[in-house]
Amino acid sequence: MCIFCKIITGEIPSYKIYEDDSVLAFLDIQPVNPGHILVISKKHYKNLEEIPEADLKILIVAVKNIGHLLKIKLKADGYNASTNNDPAAGQIVPHIHFHVIPRYVGDGHESWSHSEYAPGEAEEIVKKLLS
Ligand code: AMP
Ligand code: ZN
Repeated sequence: MCIFCKIITGEIPSYKIYEDDSVLAFLDIQPVNPGHILVISKKHYKNLEEIPEADLKILIVAVKNIGHLLKIKLKADGYNASTNNDPAAGQIVPHIHFHVIPRYVGDGHESWSHSEYAPGEAEEIVKKLLS
């Protein structure tokens, strides 16, 4: 059983923020900012490819509601809502989850660095994506 499934069963303790039949939201134990919440499906799916659309829709609505909660209750100026899909993208726990991270103006957390397309590179990428 994966670590998040153990959190769902209660075998591993967590700070639960929201729970219903389909989803669970709890504090990330190593927050980017205090109030960083993980929103997970109660059924074990590895990632976005595995989760059925019906379950994903329920999950993403819960993500939206948790984001709203962060703005109202923690006075967050905004929030990041993201999922790391597969280990190459930073996924450590193989149970689909969205990070919902409260953000504050000037909190200093940088997002990803950006680069520039080399000449012709954007056209090549578009060709691959549309082929
Ligand atoms: P990811 O890299 O997207 O798989 O993120 C996994 C997240 O789970 C990390 O941010 C961890 O801090 C968090 N995490 C791991 N174990 C626990 C736990 N027992 N309770 C709460 N959060 C956890
Ligand atoms: Zn699991």
